[in-house]
Amino acid sequence: MVNAAYEVRAIPYRPIWPGLIFNTIFYALLAFVTHRLLRTIREHRRFTKGRCPTCRYDLNANFAPGCPECGWRREATQPAPP
Ligand SMILES: [Zn+2]
Repeated sequence: MVNAAYEVRAIPYRPIWPGLIFNTIFYALLAFVTHRLLRTIREHRRFTKGRCPTCRYDLNANFAPGCPECGWRREATQPAPP
């Protein structure tokens, strides 16, 4: 005994737009929040260890002058004269 509803075979070739839009926004937000959370945790761990939060260069917990390696918290300097 076979149920007739299971014998219908169809190939989905058109998107269901409301579902596609909702899923796109939902998973994009989920990916963005996860990325920001992991980045914040990584920067916090580097900061508490006295390292540059951007490049992990050892600053010996002296954050005032910024990072000489990557320029984090450094003022923009004038370009070198030719
Ligand atoms: Zn740095």
